[in-house]
Amino acid sequence: MHKVMIAPRRYVQGAHALKDAGTLVSAIGKKPIILWDETVKGIIGDVLLGSLKDAGLDAATIDFKGDSTREEAARVARVIKESGSDVILAAGGGKTLDTAKAGAADAGVKVVTIPTIASNDSPTSSFTVWYDGDGNCTGFESWGVNPDLVLVDTQVIANGPVAAFVAGMGDALGTWVEADACSQVTAPNLAGGTSTLVAMGIASLCYDVLMEHGVAAKKAVEENTVNESVEQVVEANVLMSGLGFESGGVATAHMVANCLPSFPECHGLMHGHEVGFGVITQLCLDKTFDAEKRNKIVDFEIAIGLPVTFAEIGLEGVDREKLKVIGDICGGEGSLCANHPFEVTSDDVVDAMIAADALGRERKKLAGLA
Ligand SMILES: [Zn+2]
Repeated sequence: MHKVMIAPRRYVQGAHALKDAGTLVSAIGKKPIILWDETVKGIIGDVLLGSLKDAGLDAATIDFKGDSTREEAARVARVIKESGSDVILAAGGGKTLDTAKAGAADAGVKVVTIPTIASNDSPTSSFTVWYDGDGNCTGFESWGVNPDLVLVDTQVIANGPVAAFVAGMGDALGTWVEADACSQVTAPNLAGGTSTLVAMGIASLCYDVLMEHGVAAKKAVEENTVNESVEQVVEANVLMSGLGFESGGVATAHMVANCLPSFPECHGLMHGHEVGFGVITQLCLDKTFDAEKRNKIVDFEIAIGLPVTFAEIGLEGVDREKLKVIGDICGGEGSLCANHPFEVTSDDVVDAMIAADALGRERKKLAGLA
């Protein structure tokens, strides 16, 4: 298997970067169509439409129905085809972006992602995470190409919900931990090959940026301020995390995270919250992982407010039998848990989740938070 790395064609990030949308989009297409919901339209509508208009672009719009289901993606593809658009601008959170990527692949048009929250790494990736109508994750699919442009306005991100920003750090925290596991067994990445040195370097940098700037960035976002820490963490959450997971590979942290939405109790969580707990599970599963570094990662999660216990992910008092549902999927055929240099069984994953909860509670107690 060859080393493969994939990436978006252009990445633009900065405070008020949205004002450049018209110039940037006109280099990609002549007939844009925007996928967004009412809330996002209220936040960026004037600036985005104004910038497109200044560049001579008249944009059509589609109202997003709220979930990245196959039905919604098929509807979006139909509207794109009927409108004769040549580029879709997906503005909002991961589900909007994922639906647009799927619709664009079907309709054969280019893609611009405009994340209004930095809650996960969907903006840069070639993937759509699918959900059913009940909010259960049903799998993920790559379209073979990454977005033509990722446009990140850091002031919009800083004005957004703090919980989403923190969730993004949870998703980004998985990047190095999982790429590192994959590299130990030369496991396939999500780009159709194995990891490059560049992907590993990005994953490692992603981890360092979070550790150095995560807490300060969260404080700044609480005050809707963009500073250097916010800029660096947005780049970690959106760009490094996206490149790192796709071209580095994923393992148990994402496998557990992708299983959690099958429990109705976990439906209030964002993907990055789930990955945050998945990271601790993976670190408890991997008996060779340095204990001090593991504690440091858990303490970081606690410091920025990621959930680290069963109680915090809605599973207080959960028993082994219930966790076995996740264990069986994780220990089963085709699981990402195979991307470790040791065998992983259903019982191992259940044990690791129980150990993760215990560690989370212990570290919270040490931090004086429980
Ligand atoms: Zn993720």
